[in-house]
Amino acid sequence: MSEAPENSTDESNVSDAEGANTGAMVYAVVISIAGLILGVVTFIKGWGFMGYMGGGLLTVAGVSMLVARLKGGVKFISVACPVCSESGTYDAETFEENNAQPCDSCGAYLWDAKGSVVAVPAGTVHARPIFEAPLKLPIEIEACVVCGEDASFKIQIEGTTSKMGVAATKYITREVELPVCGSHQDNENAALATAVYTEDGVDGFALKLRNFDLSERLRGR
Ligand SMILES: [Zn+2]
Ligand SMILES: [Zn+2]
Repeated sequence: MSEAPENSTDESNVSDAEGANTGAMVYAVVISIAGLILGVVTFIKGWGFMGYMGGGLLTVAGVSMLVARLKGGVKFISVACPVCSESGTYDAETFEENNAQPCDSCGAYLWDAKGSVVAVPAGTVHARPIFEAPLKLPIEIEACVVCGEDASFKIQIEGTTSKMGVAATKYITREVELPVCGSHQDNENAALATAVYTEDGVDGFALKLRNFDLSERLRGR
């Protein structure tokens, strides 16, 4: 696994997204106050239980958002993409714990390296499957999905998604066979790749892979 390179400058391309953070804060406060007002109006007008419940729910939602925000739970950061230079607003957690996220503008996979967001370097094999590519069938992968060496085995991975219907929830399971080499056939399937639900791809499924180069190829990049 290749380490994220050190940023050559001291200047970070990450900053607090003041607008989005303030917006989230204002939203939380407005919701809380609206809930309280609904409670008071319900009392004055005698609307009864439904009014109190609506007011209570709003207040609880607003206050818990506010608490989360003040604890730093919902924090937005502004990131200038090192590839296309476009600025994007992301949830701060997106880049935490060695996670990666495609740039909103150019789609380049980005992650955090010591306080700066950089492009994921070619050749990266991450410990967990974090690189997403749309699932297309048949799968055009011949080499090991982890290391890219000659594959002599197949592993089966499975993803399930639920679609809420009018009468019932429909579950869709999709099984996919992926090639692996001898040294990666015993790994837990979940550590190799996962099928996850997205809006595009086969039945809305995507693959999540450890191998960055392979995910880039499947993304057509
Ligand atoms: Zn970009
Ligand atoms: Zn391998």
